[in-house]
Amino acid sequence: MSANKVRLQAITDVEAYVPPAVSFDPGEEPGEIFGQNVFSLSVMAKRLPKSVYKSVLATIEKSAPLDPLVADAVASAMKDWALEKGATHYAHVFYPLTGLTAEKHDSFLDPVGDGTAFASFSGKTLVQGEPDASSFPNGGLRNTFEARGYTGWDVMSPAYVLENPNGNTLCIPTVFISMTGEALDHKTPVLRSQQAMAVHAERVLRLFGHEPERVVSYCGPEQEYFLVDSHFYLARPDLLNAGRTLFGAKPPKGQEFDDHYFGAIPERVLGFMMDTERELFKLGIPAKTRHNEVAPGQFEIAPMFERANVASDHQQLLMTTFKAIAKKHGMECLFHEKPFDGVNGSGKHVNFSIGNDAQGNLLLPGDTPHENAQFLVFCGAVIRAVHKYGGLLRASVASASNDHRLGANEAPPAIISIFLGDQLADVFDQIAKGGATRSKEKGTLIIGVDTLPDLSKDPGDRNRTSPFAFTGNRFEFRAPGSLQTVAAPMVVINAIMAEALDHCATVLETAVAEGTDFDEAVQSLLATIVADHGAVIFNGNGYSDEWQVEAEQRGLKNLRTTIDALPELISDDALELFSTYSVFSEREMHSRYEVGLEQYILSVGVEANLTLEMGTTIILPSAVRYQTELASNVATLKAAGVDADLSLLESVSGPIGELKAGLAELGDALAKEHDHDPMVAATYVRDTVLPAMAAVRAAADTLEGLVADDLWSLPTYQEMLYIL
Ligand code: ADP
Ligand code: MG
Repeated sequence: MSANKVRLQAITDVEAYVPPAVSFDPGEEPGEIFGQNVFSLSVMAKRLPKSVYKSVLATIEKSAPLDPLVADAVASAMKDWALEKGATHYAHVFYPLTGLTAEKHDSFLDPVGDGTAFASFSGKTLVQGEPDASSFPNGGLRNTFEARGYTGWDVMSPAYVLENPNGNTLCIPTVFISMTGEALDHKTPVLRSQQAMAVHAERVLRLFGHEPERVVSYCGPEQEYFLVDSHFYLARPDLLNAGRTLFGAKPPKGQEFDDHYFGAIPERVLGFMMDTERELFKLGIPAKTRHNEVAPGQFEIAPMFERANVASDHQQLLMTTFKAIAKKHGMECLFHEKPFDGVNGSGKHVNFSIGNDAQGNLLLPGDTPHENAQFLVFCGAVIRAVHKYGGLLRASVASASNDHRLGANEAPPAIISIFLGDQLADVFDQIAKGGATRSKEKGTLIIGVDTLPDLSKDPGDRNRTSPFAFTGNRFEFRAPGSLQTVAAPMVVINAIMAEALDHCATVLETAVAEGTDFDEAVQSLLATIVADHGAVIFNGNGYSDEWQVEAEQRGLKNLRTTIDALPELISDDALELFSTYSVFSEREMHSRYEVGLEQYILSVGVEANLTLEMGTTIILPSAVRYQTELASNVATLKAAGVDADLSLLESVSGPIGELKAGLAELGDALAKEHDHDPMVAATYVRDTVLPAMAAVRAAADTLEGLVADDLWSLPTYQEMLYIL
């Protein structure tokens, strides 16, 4: 079939497609299936001897390592449970630096020697695995002679059974470390940073008179994504290989109509959503909201917040589940940050808070002045953290794909600032001026410690243009991209909060030891924080050009691209922060910096080669065919003695010339050998390869608007975005 027929056939097939019937048992209660495939605490409570269960519980509460004897008992119960659920294999699931999820599968069955096999699974196999580390990026951490890596169960993240048409697998969420104990994954640092933050948060709580339980960080990720019919997806080599379109003119009907946002969800998509929700429920993932997003074909899912390490595992599992179920419904789920140029991109807002069951949410304003003072100290810590380490936050969300989104007037700019909302901003304003007396909203006057104002729990206003916004009981980090793991930003948030809370606790402890009145000490701490770090607070329009200028005057960094941002990972401040709080060693940070550059070079490299190939073999031929048609039309007219107008032929020939020149230039750019220094190579990619790709695309997109529709081979934006 010729290429253009593929497109026309795809359109016909899409129109004729009948989605699979979603067959739910009408009597089925969501509550019944929730967590049915999870080896949860309640399953453990039923299946484990009391003493063993208690020990596991203590391990989870204290984030301590699992006792080997306990591990054996847990493994045995877990195996029996998994076999009953139809599992034939088990897998240590880990999260390498590619940002994807990796699994090492093993069979439960061990041959016994007499021709039979025996289902075995010991504590040791539960707690530790040994995948080959050589096929995962490590940024020079692993010498070639030492290819081994270890995986170890994160006891706080429950094991689960993943259903598959070809058999079920018991999955165990694990950390992935090198022989020498260095983190090769995204989970290990989440656990380390969580611990560091907890220690200092608890010090602050003690100062406020609590005997606190272990503090944890919570994360509620909002995931945006696109759905595209599989027929179109398969007819677009760029979507298939790079996850985004490298060509495509803007559709005549754009999102300016704004009729998609919260509009009716197409029936076919609803079927998909119900199906995914059901699967997520079985896996104990609390999926809740769903609505259309700004762009056509774009949607969002936001599971309920959970402990950051669990939320981050669940987030990865959610993406895998979405991909699989979309396929079942004849669609492809796109997680790329910018699948379609000129159409709203996708982010993954990371909502975060800290607290625990006993002390509650520490970012929630309290009912009494004393509670409010505590709340303001935690907010003050956030202000210090984000101001001191804004560059690091930016680096934690840096990727080639997210570069297309950040600062594109639809997502926050690359400048990291904080939005507090009118009320809280006003409170900190008053603190800066020597003590808060009244809250803007309520105007209540409170005296004494009481100089801290009463706060209402609903700040009311919203600012969608801020990268880091207070939303009433949590902060929302809006810069993370839809394709990224939430682990990387959560590690940075935890680590910088550890530093800021350490600072707050130390200042307050010292003041108390010196006999200063506690309330005064709190006032003065907050006033100093506002004086030193208030520059990061910005309540205005983050999309405006004026903000770019003002931010620079305030000394805030504006790290526009991944290449500008990644060096933040190895700045002196970052290295000191991470080593002080035992989150990353210097070697680990250098490895992450190098992996970041490597991934950037690789992903743009794939796109550049695709651009060259598609431009040469798909777009140019369509355009040349049309040019030939026009030329023969001119010849025919001339032969017939009719006045031939050359303007149409010329209008096509111009961009064809540009396309050819662009392809030649891109070919040359790609032929150049990469510099062995990854920073030099990545900078070359950004400054030479990306612009060459853009030039090819510009010519191709112009041609799309000129070439006869029946000769155009690639499904258009119009088709992909509006036919579902
Ligand atoms: P919006 O689109 O208005 O920002 P959503 O309802 O789509 O809000 O998503 C809000 C997300 O924030 C959900 O994942 C929710 O669970 C999460 N969230 C709510 N409260 C907290 C909290 N205290 N800590 C962390 N995340 C939270
Ligand atoms: Mg949100």
